[in-house]
Amino acid sequence: MAGFAVSLLRMRNDNRLSDDLLAWYDLHGRDLPWRRTRDPYRVWLSEVILQQTRVNQGLPYWERFVAAFPDIESLAAAGEQEVLRLWQGLGYYSRARNLHAAAREILERHDGCFPEDYAAIRALKGVGEYTAAAVASICFNLPHAVVDGNVVRFVSRLHGIDRPVGEPAVRRRIGELAHDGMDTRRPGDYNQAMMEFGATVCLPVNPGCDACPFTARCRAFRDGRVSEIPVRVPAAKVRDRYLHYLVLISVQKGREFLCLRKREGRDIWQGLYDFPCLEGENATNRDLSPGDFPGMSNAVGDRFGQVTDPVIHLLTHRRLHIQFYLLRTSIKPPLPCITVPLTELTGYPFPKPVANFLRQAGLLQH
Ligand code: SF4
Repeated sequence: MAGFAVSLLRMRNDNRLSDDLLAWYDLHGRDLPWRRTRDPYRVWLSEVILQQTRVNQGLPYWERFVAAFPDIESLAAAGEQEVLRLWQGLGYYSRARNLHAAAREILERHDGCFPEDYAAIRALKGVGEYTAAAVASICFNLPHAVVDGNVVRFVSRLHGIDRPVGEPAVRRRIGELAHDGMDTRRPGDYNQAMMEFGATVCLPVNPGCDACPFTARCRAFRDGRVSEIPVRVPAAKVRDRYLHYLVLISVQKGREFLCLRKREGRDIWQGLYDFPCLEGENATNRDLSPGDFPGMSNAVGDRFGQVTDPVIHLLTHRRLHIQFYLLRTSIKPPLPCITVPLTELTGYPFPKPVANFLRQAGLLQH
């Protein structure tokens, strides 16, 4: 009986929390274009993009994608290169490839209609629990709670969870708590409110506790442990990689071509284009010459026109030290590179530091 009373009390508390949360969201939720629609394609796209970046940076990507591919059919019909080019700068390019593959799957297996139940959404290529719950709740009113980094922070502080949130059991518990508190009349709004609150008030650093409507219920606040929660395990060690890029402009019959390499295999930037590369585990102090690059033995005697200072580019578990060596020559480029007229570079997807270099060198306009 006592247990029943406790769970009844908790239910009431959770309901009050969701009422207050939804009232807060109705007043303070940001007006974003994907919140004005229930079109699952557009909501799905926003969720995948927002896994990569913050709203301000993700918004132009979403707008460009929707303009280029207004529906599933147009995304499915696009070439991979075009999809990756629009994704350029967001990182985690496998997500763009999965998005593309899932659009084709929807066309082939679901007659072009976005699946309407959680299991079928979750079965799409690249769709994890988070994205499936977001689309199912926002577009189809299904009661699946989302658990992203914002929800983890908000819930773990509310409940004073002092175990590492990276542990699967702790993560599961946070999911249960988020689900228990859900207002099943408005599951999509509830999920968005949870994420929005974490993203705009219950911030990682300097959260807005002063103006928070949940201070009386927040265990971390009561215990003075807001800055300690959520508890995280130390991040995996970052590995350094040293990339020396040969930026080869080949002059053939008066026309200029850039030598590009498509990145294949299971490595960073799969499917994107960069340059012939020498890579080492350490910074090399020796002076490189053009003839040191693979397939460039006929360039012995040539000199680089320009060598940049190393560029540091951070990935999740990698720190890239990148140096660009510019060579303008009439010799044939090394295989298996492709040569692209300088005027046609805009059609190619490049990793961010490569695109930045090309822009700074005046070789790429956008
Ligand atoms: Fe987050 Fe502070 Fe509100 Fe607790 S009181 S939920 S830590 S903003």
